Amino acid sequence: MHFDVIILGGGPGGAKAAQVLAKGGKKVALVSDNLGGECLNYGCIPTKTYLSATELFEKIKEFQGGLKISEAYLDWESMKQYKNKIVEKLKKKLEWSLTQSGATLINGHGEIGENGKSVTVGQETHTTDTLILATGSRARLLPNIEKSEKVVTNYEILDLPTVPQKLLVVGGGAIGVEFASIFAALGSSITIVEMGAHLLPLEDKEVGEELRRVFERKKITVLTETKASDEHFATNDIALIAVGRSTAHSDTLIKQLNLTTNEHGKITTTDFLQTNQQHIYVIGDLAGKALLAYTAEREGEIAAQHILGKTPKPINYGAVANTIFCSPEISSVGMSEEAAKAKFGENILVGKSPYSANSKALILGVRDGFAKIVANKNTRVILGIHIIGEKATELIAEASLAVANNLTIDEYNENLHSHPILGEVVKDACSQLI
Ligand SMILES: Cc1cc2nc3c(=O)[nH]c(=O)nc-3n(C[C@H](O)[C@H](O)[C@H](O)COP(=O)(O)OP(=O)(O)OC[C@H]3O[C@@H](n4cnc5c(N)ncnc54)[C@H](O)[C@@H]3O)c2cc1C
Repeated sequence: MHFDVIILGGGPGGAKAAQVLAKGGKKVALVSDNLGGECLNYGCIPTKTYLSATELFEKIKEFQGGLKISEAYLDWESMKQYKNKIVEKLKKKLEWSLTQSGATLINGHGEIGENGKSVTVGQETHTTDTLILATGSRARLLPNIEKSEKVVTNYEILDLPTVPQKLLVVGGGAIGVEFASIFAALGSSITIVEMGAHLLPLEDKEVGEELRRVFERKKITVLTETKASDEHFATNDIALIAVGRSTAHSDTLIKQLNLTTNEHGKITTTDFLQTNQQHIYVIGDLAGKALLAYTAEREGEIAAQHILGKTPKPINYGAVANTIFCSPEISSVGMSEEAAKAKFGENILVGKSPYSANSKALILGVRDGFAKIVANKNTRVILGIHIIGEKATELIAEASLAVANNLTIDEYNENLHSHPILGEVVKDACSQLI
């Protein structure tokens, strides 16, 4: 069959592109070997489902406001079943909305024809005018370390038959600290091994240090500037490898389709995600601009709108919030203090306010965390906002608007906040600079 557009990969990027194109009147096929992609099946959704149980459990244990529950415990089997139910429900919903939009769903693994003008799934070859590559990324392994019953990635850990007594987490990035939070609450004794100087090396240093402080209070061992050794592997029941993502098949695609790459080996695209081959677009984790479900989705939307002949506003990646759902949660947008210092020297302002000074946090029994604002001393424009603490991943939405619109600390401060809310913690950080 011939299509106007074939999309390869049914994660958040591919699914969004399919919906926008179908609604825009294009004959579009979404070829997917696992609808929902990494996000729905092994990433965002399963981990956040587990975290909803573990966080609630920890809150119940710690809350001192009169709640009495005689027996609360986490049941791993029930957690897995609940996770499967949520994934299935969301998958059905996605399938329904794709079909409703008019997109054709083709289940199976697609092989791209030589010039990117056809895709073969099983015995059937489909031709296309335009191809969108949305094949995502996979867990990266360490050289010389193979997966086994004892060495797992973000896939296998979701369905471990039992909760390990001792869990080694190799990599203190977003994925590593989320799983450490889950399994610490489940009762595993956790050791995190991170090569960088602090946890979450891509985040503001103080945030990584605060997370370490809280983790250590929870009896999680954090070893920074440390490489995982044979001894680490031998002394733990299970090792989770969480050392980043790879797009293993991208080399083959690049060669086969004659795509150009940048100095980091990523496929070069325009702001509209179009490659040097005008009929080929690359979006999401495969494009590698930001490894997030919501950027993948927006990139899918942008590529689709461009194919429909529109000129969508490109993503300002510098103003995209990063969210990490460990306990306590972390989120950030814009420059860290270190990055701002590197660019502007001492010409920056830093305001910080702890959750312990926030009345809602006190009511909720929350004591850890802070919000931090980094601004340019001359222009007073906000360069970055960093939050670690309760609901940080929700509070960042307002912060991103401020950074995306180059608000000054004075403008941010003029915006009234309700009371008592956790959101006042960011406003209080800002007030420090007024
Ligand atoms: C543990 C974990 C937690 C995460 N948590 C979050 C979070 O909370 N928030 C967030 O924003 N992001 C999170 N992410 C990142 C997020 O999952 C990814 O950024 C997002 O899924 C990328 O979307 P995508 O559309 O590029 O591709 P993917 O979601 O990777 O989907 C690509 C799909 O294409 C399929 N595919 C590949 N090749 C072919 C082929 N030849 N034929 C057919 N199908 C093919 C793949 O099997 C896959 O199903 C998390 C990731 C992990 C691993």
